[in-house]
Amino acid sequence: MTSQERWVGAHVSAQGGVENAPLNAHKIGASAFALFTKNQRRWQAAALTEQSIAAFQENCQQLGFRPEAILPHDSYLINLGHPDPLLLEKSRDAFVDEMLRCKQLGLTLLNFHPGSHLRQISENHCLRNISDSINLALAACDGVCAVIENTAGQGSNLGHSFEQLAQIIDGVEDKSRVGVCLDTAHMFAAGYDIRTQESCRESFDAFGHIVGFQYLKGMHLNDSKTGLGSRVDRHDSLGMGEIGKTAFEYILGHPATKRIPLILETIRPEIWPEEIAWLKSLSR
Ligand SMILES: [Zn+2]
Ligand SMILES: [Zn+2]
Repeated sequence: MTSQERWVGAHVSAQGGVENAPLNAHKIGASAFALFTKNQRRWQAAALTEQSIAAFQENCQQLGFRPEAILPHDSYLINLGHPDPLLLEKSRDAFVDEMLRCKQLGLTLLNFHPGSHLRQISENHCLRNISDSINLALAACDGVCAVIENTAGQGSNLGHSFEQLAQIIDGVEDKSRVGVCLDTAHMFAAGYDIRTQESCRESFDAFGHIVGFQYLKGMHLNDSKTGLGSRVDRHDSLGMGEIGKTAFEYILGHPATKRIPLILETIRPEIWPEEIAWLKSLSR
């Protein structure tokens, strides 16, 4: 097994235009990357220009980033499970726009946080809203897979348990265009222990049984500043937090993490080159 089958990178800046993201990823020795295709803290964004799209695709091609190794992340404002019908619609419209931007760039994945009930509707109702939102988005835009990120379960965010992820997928009509991105810091904060080889095996086996590895389309590799089951989302550099190094050794040896983007969202971008090199050295 060569390290070429492990696509490792980070969530890089797209400041100045999406075409800069592959350049930034290449500079840190990445073979995968994540990006925002618009400002993640605003609802509105200017359309991508023809020039920007062409430059993005040319840079990706020249630097060897294939679409499946690129994991765009949607805006933080979007809540696909929103209890208020008008605000739910606003989120759904914005999500479709994000999907169309991905399609324009020739990308095949869109990573998003499932949604929050805001203590106004039941968990089941919120999970149903999320599945319906995915169905609407998939109907409005072909060619892009909706990749649900597991959450730390902070506040009223859903998608922190594997059962909730499975329930959302169960409500999606086209199972070929829904997937999961597992974030290690979120997993751990949500209560899945991954500090030893044995606990990793248990937690990943649970994912395999409850969700299924056929849905694993990407991972976010982060250590956690907060403890097991804290339900608080605070990332740390690899090996520097409560999770430690073993989890990443386990993950880089797991067959299901081949040929999917493995993305750092760790807190010190200046050490991303070393973190990426270390992860690549672990690949078996
Ligand atoms: Zn995220
Ligand atoms: Zn993440």
